[in-house]
Amino acid sequence: MSRPEQALVAAARAVRQRAYAPYSGFKVGAALRRRDGRIFAGCNVENASFGAGICAERAALLQAVAAGTRVGELQALAIYTAAGTPTPPCGMCLQFLVEFARELPIHLAGPRRVETVHLTALLPRPFRRFPGAARRRALRSRGG
Ligand code: ZN
Repeated sequence: MSRPEQALVAAARAVRQRAYAPYSGFKVGAALRRRDGRIFAGCNVENASFGAGICAERAALLQAVAAGTRVGELQALAIYTAAGTPTPPCGMCLQFLVEFARELPIHLAGPRRVETVHLTALLPRPFRRFPGAARRRALRSRGG
């Protein structure tokens, strides 16, 4: 694994310590690297109202977008958990990520090993747009 990839995994591992996971006990850290080399990290934050929690992957992407990151600028993602097996992002996070990166190497890291997978392999047919939305917009603009 190259030095930039090692640094990305290290950032995910470090931010995992800040995870708030009193309900599942499953702490996750995620780090996204932008093309300019800047890294954005996020951890999972759970809530007594379970659905209000957020995954580490989306927390990291929120940081990146708030710092000005736009579509196509993300280069790689690392996810760190203490699990013995690699832990891929959930479906909601995959959909959230694919909005900003059509393709993205994802390093699934833990204390024993790192496995690299790709966003396109985990989410081969993402939802991209509302079918017919462009046509409806065109009709509306013509007064239809
Ligand atoms: Zn998720």
